[in-house]
Amino acid sequence: MQAFDYSHTDSVEGAVRAGSATGVKYVAGGTTLIDLMKLDVERPAKIVDINGLPLNRIESTPHGGVRIGALVRNSDLAHHALVQQRYTVLSEALLSGASPQIRNMASTAGNLLQRTRCYYFRDIAYACNKRNPGNGCAALDGFNRIHAILGTSEQCIATHPSDMAVAMMALEALVHIQGEKGRRNVPLNDFYLEPGSTPDRENVLAPGELITHVTLPPLAPGTRSYYLKRRDRASYEFALASAAVVMQMHGRRIQRVRIALGGVGTKPWRAVQAEHALEGREAGMETFRAAAEAALQGAKPLHDNAFKVELAKRTLIRTLKVVTRAA
Ligand code: SF4
Repeated sequence: MQAFDYSHTDSVEGAVRAGSATGVKYVAGGTTLIDLMKLDVERPAKIVDINGLPLNRIESTPHGGVRIGALVRNSDLAHHALVQQRYTVLSEALLSGASPQIRNMASTAGNLLQRTRCYYFRDIAYACNKRNPGNGCAALDGFNRIHAILGTSEQCIATHPSDMAVAMMALEALVHIQGEKGRRNVPLNDFYLEPGSTPDRENVLAPGELITHVTLPPLAPGTRSYYLKRRDRASYEFALASAAVVMQMHGRRIQRVRIALGGVGTKPWRAVQAEHALEGREAGMETFRAAAEAALQGAKPLHDNAFKVELAKRTLIRTLKVVTRAA
């Protein structure tokens, strides 16, 4: 690990000021950044410790939504009564990720910003356009079993690893950001960037911008939701395919549904075509199969990850069956 400067602050403005300099990284739980610094993948000139910022609260919003501070730890969020009662899909997604020890440290904003688990990104012996733009991509002709099938480019095929972000995508979360030029908010679906020709740019944050909190809109009474994750082992493992579904029904008819997939996209993947295939239709296997086909229509499998196409379809169908079961 290379030497770096360190500072800490208890004001958001102070953090943003310090974070705007070249080569500065924010640190909260450190569950991504410190790992990557040990591997020499991240080499910040300075890290700014933001754990003293007043961003660790979970609060109800006036219209029945929830506001989640950037520093709220994943375990606290998963077990909070508001989340367990209103946003079960989020609690399920959080508890399916990492280990209890990591969830105790990992923050909400850090989870949104966690980096890919692509083996070649995390090993500086290999070519990686995300780590070194223009350097090539060792995964394209390498072992790409865990890599993405949606949103890929000729420059990068890495998946986004977060479970939490998949649930937040289906919940239509809003990301609140503060920078030197002021505050702004961005729908989570617009927050992440597909790799295209710039896989080193993963989201819309400008240098120094800090996520302060995330808001979830209120859900209509009777909304159902579920998160299902398929992986190589039962815990402490990343998704090969996952699905988050948030749905309102009237009798057996699907009125409104939001779907996001994990483990298959270069970003947490909102499956809009699948939503269109479901809304206004009766719940049932034929409709679910049509939705799964629509969700994976643009998939581009590679030599080791073709199985993900069928796995993602089955994962989505199973999730839809669970969500609609008691209707
Ligand atoms: Fe790097 Fe992306 Fe290729 Fe992985 S898939 S080696 S992260 S460019």
